[in-house]
Amino acid sequence: MDERASKRVVIDAGHGGNDPGASGNGIIEKEYTLKISEYIYNRLKELGLDVKMTRTTDETLSPTERVNRVLNAFGNDSDVLVISNHINAGGREIC
Ligand SMILES: [Zn+2]
Repeated sequence: MDERASKRVVIDAGHGGNDPGASGNGIIEKEYTLKISEYIYNRLKELGLDVKMTRTTDETLSPTERVNRVLNAFGNDSDVLVISNHINAGGREIC
């Protein structure tokens, strides 16, 4: 069996809904984290990995709900990879 087939990945699009994240120059973090996450999701699917996302729409997630979605995606297993996407503004941490 292809080793990749056993890999499971949870992709977290940072922010969303009432939490826009960083913004500047017409860029809103929550919109780009979702676009980046969708791209990674589709690419990993093409490669045959089992992939899920914490959010697929512009919805508000509390920190607890976000963590629960990560944990519930494939269970709290050591071979589950989690990618949380953020785009920080220059000079200081916004996340
Ligand atoms: Zn962020």
